[in-house]
Amino acid sequence: MRTILIVEDNPMNMELARDVLEANGYCVREAASAGEALQALQESLPDLILMDIQLPGLDGLELTRTLKQDADTKDIIVVAMTAHAMKGDRERILEAGCSGYIAKPIDTRALSREVARLLPAGKAAAHPGSL
Ligand code: MN
Repeated sequence: MRTILIVEDNPMNMELARDVLEANGYCVREAASAGEALQALQESLPDLILMDIQLPGLDGLELTRTLKQDADTKDIIVVAMTAHAMKGDRERILEAGCSGYIAKPIDTRALSREVARLLPAGKAAAHPGSL
């Protein structure tokens, strides 16, 4: 089963993203900060990270840059989530190493579409009978 790590400090956004991704057949793990994300990555590597840009402390773009410099984590697909959909932000996000991004407030269809585009077969990869 494909695994997605959601890095998001807002509990409502976390719940929404989790519900959408689980409904699409992905296994979801959660981190509320960059520190929690790094800890989760020590345990196991997800197929994709859904990365909030606005995080307390180390922000999502800084964390993405850090991950892209590490041989162990550089190949993990990162999708940014940002409330700042201003001109220049797209370039900043892609330059940091993200493969895509979605705007906030989260549009559940846009989230499903973007994740499926970058990480196909969430449902197909699920094992019958697994949690
Ligand atoms: Mn945030």
